[in-house]
Amino acid sequence: MRMFQLCVCGEPLKASEQPTPKPTGSEVLLKVLAAGVCHSDLHLADGWFDLGSGKRLSLTDRGMKLPLTLGHENVGEVVAVGPDAKGVPIGARMLAHPWIGCGSCHPCRRGEENLCRAMKSLGVFSNGGYADFMMVPHPRYLFEIGDLPPERVAPLACSGVTTFGALKKVPTLTSEPTVIIGAGGLGLMCLALHRKMGGHSAILVDIDPEKHKAAKAAGAAHVVDGRADDAAQQIIDLTQGGAWAVIDLVGSSHSARLGYDSLIKGGKYIIVGLFGGDLTLSLPPIPMRALTIQGSYVGSVPEMDELMELVRRTGSPQVPVATKPLDEVNAVMHDLRAGKIIGRVVLTP
Ligand SMILES: [Zn+2]
Ligand SMILES: [Zn+2]
Repeated sequence: MRMFQLCVCGEPLKASEQPTPKPTGSEVLLKVLAAGVCHSDLHLADGWFDLGSGKRLSLTDRGMKLPLTLGHENVGEVVAVGPDAKGVPIGARMLAHPWIGCGSCHPCRRGEENLCRAMKSLGVFSNGGYADFMMVPHPRYLFEIGDLPPERVAPLACSGVTTFGALKKVPTLTSEPTVIIGAGGLGLMCLALHRKMGGHSAILVDIDPEKHKAAKAAGAAHVVDGRADDAAQQIIDLTQGGAWAVIDLVGSSHSARLGYDSLIKGGKYIIVGLFGGDLTLSLPPIPMRALTIQGSYVGSVPEMDELMELVRRTGSPQVPVATKPLDEVNAVMHDLRAGKIIGRVVLTP
């Protein structure tokens, strides 16, 4: 099988060939049909996250081992199963939930594997889908996609379940506008799911005029230029007093400041994006204004189940998707880094 691996952090992925593995135990081997390229692949390839004030979080310190096949947004066709893998017919087309925990700790046992402290996520801590084939450790991480197009479903594995998980943390989703910072692939997915979930209305914030247009076309009620000096005041005016909920898909010092400063009393700032940076806050306003700051990291298996149910019922989210051959993975990652991609690029081996 062919695969594209991260061998040295900071360098392009390297093509390599290895024997296709045979599934044992509960494992399921998928022939990859579609693999979405996510912004966090750039962080994985760099090998670190920016913690602000010159500090870095090293991914190799966190357990990332090289060489590693990247790709955590995958749809594949079942081609072989281990003797203990039940209920996955050969030929079925499946979305692979990549956020896999140890299976035995307290969060894992209550279904929140995304909060496990020893995650084995596909394409992050174990080999992912920038390859012809990939192994999934258990059928419980597979979700049948039926007739849905693989390239539209693949982004649900990260972009979809991540924004779904964040939207589910908004208590006022159906009654008040939700502010979404970042109108890249994640932002447009968030907007599409916000709609499917019966969201009241959405205000999209981005610094790029091209992304403003994409957000408008995708149904944003308003767009705000994140670079404007009065961006927070614009959000406060548009929400008639301040936002009840801000979902920050960027997660930079600047976007966090803007999101936090836009809240109304009782409002909630939800941070999802991993751009990096830091934020200094005065403490008394947090209790006095009853504010909530909440992090949201990918999604759980039950959330993925719920999201797939929603998508089977209402169709795949209409987010701009372009397909590219697997061989172009390094060029796609380069364009993503340069901010040149609207929506999502999905690789097809
Ligand atoms: Zn991702
Ligand atoms: Zn665990």
